[in-house]
Amino acid sequence: MSSATFAEAVLAWYDQHGRKDLPWQQNMSPYRVWVSEIMLQQTQVATVIPYYQRFMTTLPDVHALAAADPDEVLHLWTGLGYYSRARNLHKTAQIVVNQHAGVFPASVEGLEALPGIGRSTAGAIASLSMGLRAAILDGNVKRVLARYHAVEGWPGEKAVHDRLWKIAESYTPAQRFDHYTQAMMDLGATLCTRSKPSCLVCPVQAGCAARMLGTPAAYPHSKPRKALPVRQCVMPLLVNPEGDVWLQRRPDSGLWGGLWCPPQLDDHAALEPLLDQLGWQHEATERLEPLRHTFSHFHLDIQPLLVQVRTTPGVAEAGQVWYNLRQPSRLGLAAPVSKLLKRVKQLLDPVA
Ligand code: SF4
Repeated sequence: MSSATFAEAVLAWYDQHGRKDLPWQQNMSPYRVWVSEIMLQQTQVATVIPYYQRFMTTLPDVHALAAADPDEVLHLWTGLGYYSRARNLHKTAQIVVNQHAGVFPASVEGLEALPGIGRSTAGAIASLSMGLRAAILDGNVKRVLARYHAVEGWPGEKAVHDRLWKIAESYTPAQRFDHYTQAMMDLGATLCTRSKPSCLVCPVQAGCAARMLGTPAAYPHSKPRKALPVRQCVMPLLVNPEGDVWLQRRPDSGLWGGLWCPPQLDDHAALEPLLDQLGWQHEATERLEPLRHTFSHFHLDIQPLLVQVRTTPGVAEAGQVWYNLRQPSRLGLAAPVSKLLKRVKQLLDPVA
């Protein structure tokens, strides 16, 4: 199959089977496509849709996002993970408003210069919403092309990555590149799926090397595996007599940056010094069931402690909050913290 035939086959398939009713395909604009592309990194379409709709209802354009409270942005992101995406989104909106008069730069290079926008995301924004011919190479497209050419090696290696980009560039047609971009994402998401690709109904099966080899699921090759290290911490959930839980805002950089969390201690012995420092007395301490949270580079084993403290209710300094479990404020919470707060609510208020 030549590049032209490849694109034609993909486009013909798109006309019949491509997705045309996704929320970000309506009233398409660089802002709407950009937010969807950032949400879709590492997250499936079905999961993204409700988050996207909530986000657009609250922050319908780049000006609204630029002016939003960082906590509001993180709150709208709570549950999607990889929070640096939300922080970069906010930063980028402010740059677009302050340095580009609210208009996204109309070139792949200009877009790529913004925080959190890589080459593929820039290509998607340019081709889907700006009428510019640009290639993309997101996870789905990478999979289709790596299989189609039976590309050996892990795409994280520069040589493999460069080769895939070259292929992606050469297949992107001069016309209908917006539909082609969408079609390739759809093909990867719906037919050329990770474990069981539907090769029999695939529009490019005739030229697909991995299908001919009989091993499509072997491509793209995975990263050579290393066992993830395990770290441990103790997380005291300090509860005041009102049943509110004490949270601190984490520094902007680092793990769960900018999100609200209970204190994170190295071990149980660090609890007393923390309470002394806060000047609070505690009544009862209960060990809750441990929780494992896996980051890309390590597992974090969390030992939660439910600690009833005696303190003046309602007093919290900047960067601290007494989190009301019954009427939660709109704060950004890391996924395991959300889980732990739900557990505490259940324990304190089992019939609610
Ligand atoms: S033939 Fe199969 S492996 Fe090849 S691109 Fe199509 S779905 Fe993917």
